[in-house]
This record gives sequence, C-alpha cells and structure tokens, in this order.
Amino acid sequence: MTKVPFLDVGASYRDLKTEIDEAVGRVLASGWYILGPEVVTFEEAFAASCGAAHVAGVASGLDALHLVLQAWNIGPGDEVIVASNAYIATWLAVTMTGAVPVPIEPREETCNLDPDRLEAAITPRTRVVLPVHLYGQTAEMTAIVAIARRHGLRVLEDAAQAHGARFDGQPAGVLGDAAAWSFYPTKNLGAFGDAGAVMTNDAETADRVRLLRNYGSRRKYENDIAGYNSRLDPLQAAVLGVKLKHLEVWNGRRRRLADRYQAGLAGCADIALPAVAAGADPAWHVYVVRTPHRDALQAHLTHAGVETLIHYPIAPHQSGAYRASPWASASFPIAERLAQQVLSLPIGPHLSDSAQDQVIDAVRSFSPQ
Ligand SMILES: *Cc1c(COP(=O)(O)O)cnc(C)c1O
Repeated sequence: MTKVPFLDVGASYRDLKTEIDEAVGRVLASGWYILGPEVVTFEEAFAASCGAAHVAGVASGLDALHLVLQAWNIGPGDEVIVASNAYIATWLAVTMTGAVPVPIEPREETCNLDPDRLEAAITPRTRVVLPVHLYGQTAEMTAIVAIARRHGLRVLEDAAQAHGARFDGQPAGVLGDAAAWSFYPTKNLGAFGDAGAVMTNDAETADRVRLLRNYGSRRKYENDIAGYNSRLDPLQAAVLGVKLKHLEVWNGRRRRLADRYQAGLAGCADIALPAVAAGADPAWHVYVVRTPHRDALQAHLTHAGVETLIHYPIAPHQSGAYRASPWASASFPIAERLAQQVLSLPIGPHLSDSAQDQVIDAVRSFSPQ
C-alpha cells in the first residue's frame, strides 16, 4: 500500500534546488544578514503580485497581525471582532495588545466569518474587524468591508492561508485596510523557517509597522517609539522571492485537485464538501470536509495509508490559552461542531492524480456504522 502524506513540505526544495541554492548562496556571500536589499526586493515583488502599495516583511504571521493592531494603537478597552472558529493566532494577536477579541460564528458551509452576524457584535468599543480567510477561501469581504465602513471600523485580513486567493476578482491582501501574511513552511507560499509580512495601501500603517518591527528605529540607535525585533530574515526573503514566481502554477495545481475532489467525492453519505461563497476564488490551502463521523473517517483513512489533519480540533474559546477569559464558559455551537466534524484531506502542488485517486477511493469506501 502506498502512503499518501498530508503534504510533501520538502518537495518545493527538490523542485527548485538550483535556484534556491543560488539565492541562499548570494545572501551568505553578501555579508548583509539583517533587512537590506534582499528583503526590499521580496517586499516589492510580493506587493506587486497583489497590486499593493506597501509590504513590510516581519518575523511571522502572528507578528504581522500583532504589529498592524499595534500600529493602529489597538489596546486595552478596545474590541476586535474575530471568527469563533479562527486559528488561535488570530485571537492571540488581539489579546497580545490588551484588547478583547469578540467572536462571531462563521457560516457553517464555508467556515468563514458570517457578515450577517457582524452588525449585532459591534459596540462603541469596537475598533477593528479581523476576518481570517480560512482554509484559503477569502471571507465575504465586500459585505464585511461595507459594514465596517458604515461603522468607522478598520478591517485587517488574516491572509495567512490565502496566498493567491481572490474575492470579486481582487486579491486577498488588498481587500481591507491591511493584511497579515504568514510564510510558515506549510503555507501556499512558505519559507524554510518562520517568516511573515504586512501588506497595505496605507503609507502610514506601513511606516508604523516598519518602525515597530525594528526597535522603533529609523536611524541606528535612535528609537522614536518602543518597538520590537520582528524583521523578515533576508535568507527567507531570498527563498520566498524564488518561490513567489511559482505560486500561480502551484495554486493552479491546488485548484485542479480541489475540482477533482469536489467531483470525486460528490454524493458521499454524511460527508459535506467545502462550499465556496459567491465571489470567492479560493487558494485551497487545505481541503476540508465535514462529517459527524469524523474520527471514524480519519481512522479509516489512516488504515488506508492516507494521512489527514484536523484544522482545528479545539475552538479558540475552549483552548487552555483562554481558560481564564469570559469566553471559556461561552457557547459557540457552530465553532464547537466544526471542531468535532472537520477533516483536512491531502492537497498540495506535489500531490499526484493517482495519489489523490487513492484518497478519493478510500473516502468512498468509508461506511459510517
Ligand atoms: C499560520 C497562521 C497564522 C500564524 O502564522 P505564523 O507564521 O505561524 O505565526 C495566523 N493565522 C492563520 C489563519 C494561520 O493559518
């Protein structure tokens, strides 16, 4: 029996070894190891890929989220609206500032923030709406941004899973006031370590993030504000510059695999396939099915040599990190049900059709007891 891994993370290096070795060697030989031209070159290329005015490379996706909130002076007394089923980093970025994350339930079919619930969650303390483009599908940004504008709120996209995704033809990253990107190795655009970026069309936000990521300093040893050390590593920037050129082709491969899953798994009893909202063009970071027999299906697939993952098994409000928060005792039935029912099947640019067929056959041969 051939094993089907969830994702072959090392495949991109095997594919692009010559180019990547050249890029890494160039940085090592340059003697320039913090910020500098490699970081600027990648920032400009990544900004251009989304038609954005500014990109500031930072150390991780979590830092990208946090530094934008910090740049907007979000802190104690403020509320930030998040999805109840977000990845925990989305919530952590808010609590890191001292502000309160206010969760609203997602649409169960798309697993994305439900704009119909947004207005009811807005209070005089609300400052920011922070939707995550979960699983690589953009949230319903036209509706979200319209509501935010009406209430004078800013919109921060958590685009960590959405490299190359679009909504109403516009790329993720320029759909709100700023976007936070992660280049964690398993993301659609992944580094060989931690890396992240902030993208925005707002010069003031970009300037502020650049200050915050580098000790609050514009000139060495002059610290205008109390900042952080959260700089994008030039080695990672050089790698990302190579990989960025392949993102569209890789995402095309993901789209094709997603289409094959949608067709090949249609009609399976008790298994709901991902729904795509009108206007959304997902980057298919992960392919997530929902079933009340999730644990049995996962065991069945493991037995058939198919590796799966769960994104995510614990809703943020039930995680140990929020044990002492008011949300710990709150009820978010949709988020809780999703945590019980979601299962991510293998997908990625290097998954072959025949390996995917093995996954499809294995899912189709599952019969819930
Ligand atoms: C990966 C991820 C992050 C955090 O990115 P890091 O680079 O790991 O800090 C934030 N939000 C979402 C939705 C993610 O998937």
